[in-house]
Amino acid sequence: MSKATGYATSHSLTSLAPISFDRPEPDPLDVQISILYCGVCRSDLHQVRDDWKNTVYPCMPGHEIVGRVTAVGNEVRKHAVGDLVGVGCMVDSCGSCASCRAQLEQYCEGPIGATLTYNGPLKPDGTNTFGGYSSHIVVPESFVLKIPAGLNPVAVGPLLCAGVTTYSPLRHWRVGKGQRVGVVGLGGLGHMAVKLATAMGARVTVFSTSAEKEADARRFGAEDFILSTDKKAMTAAALSLDFILSTVPDSHDINPYILALKRDGTLVVVGTLAPFAKPTDNSKVAFQRRSVAGSLIGGVAETQEVLEFCAEHGIQAEVQVIPMSDINEAFKRIAKGEVRYRQVIDIVGTL
Ligand SMILES: [Zn+2]
Ligand SMILES: [Zn+2]
Repeated sequence: MSKATGYATSHSLTSLAPISFDRPEPDPLDVQISILYCGVCRSDLHQVRDDWKNTVYPCMPGHEIVGRVTAVGNEVRKHAVGDLVGVGCMVDSCGSCASCRAQLEQYCEGPIGATLTYNGPLKPDGTNTFGGYSSHIVVPESFVLKIPAGLNPVAVGPLLCAGVTTYSPLRHWRVGKGQRVGVVGLGGLGHMAVKLATAMGARVTVFSTSAEKEADARRFGAEDFILSTDKKAMTAAALSLDFILSTVPDSHDINPYILALKRDGTLVVVGTLAPFAKPTDNSKVAFQRRSVAGSLIGGVAETQEVLEFCAEHGIQAEVQVIPMSDINEAFKRIAKGEVRYRQVIDIVGTL
């Protein structure tokens, strides 16, 4: 065991505070990583508050981790001491089910599913996992990402969750040149979706409830901006888009966006796991043979792919760097919708 420090909470109603805990020594296939930066995801807030009724306390969030390798097990081949690496939303999976064999570990069909980076049972003893709001972490090498040269380490973390969560459906539904893509919501996920879809060659329309975000949407590459509260503009957008990604983090009504899809268009919801605010109107779906779908983060290989894609296209997340001690205020800013567009904790400098 090695001594670690981090920020955790022991109850849904209390703030995060510093704790000391033990990390295991690396097993033969494990990598030990000293954490430099960790992004703050809206999921962290949901998990801390037990919004999904599955939080195991103490809860130490953080799944947008960037750090340096400080030790490796004696069978590790992919990473070496000193490498700049990343850890995203998962740290393990069964490795043998159909989804794992297809490099889609996020959909692991094993008895416990994929082991999440925090609040995930750790095989084989069932203890809780602690995430990246901490000094260091020990992770199997197959779940450790290489950070390509040219990416700014401070801004890489958000690619590991927000980035791959939007990249994966854009790739799966083959978004590309000549297509028109809608992005609903311009936050942590949405701003990545705009940059990625634009780099893939699509013409992007942003739907937002905040008129003041139009300039940012255009700066990130969007050609069109629709205020989603503007009924006239929403009506005018009917039958215009091939693909829409909804990144809205709360329960919302998807029916107005279904109407914006062309025939055979697809709306994919990635921002929320909550039921929709209104039932899906299947007449709107059936009349133009449209599809409504969901998608969850991305596999390890695809996470590596989005890192390479961003390095190649010069894409980075828009980040606000915060000290570790500011995390409880950071959660309040997320809840109030004040973040532009992802907060990243300076772990190495402030923990
Ligand atoms: Zn996340
Ligand atoms: Zn599996």
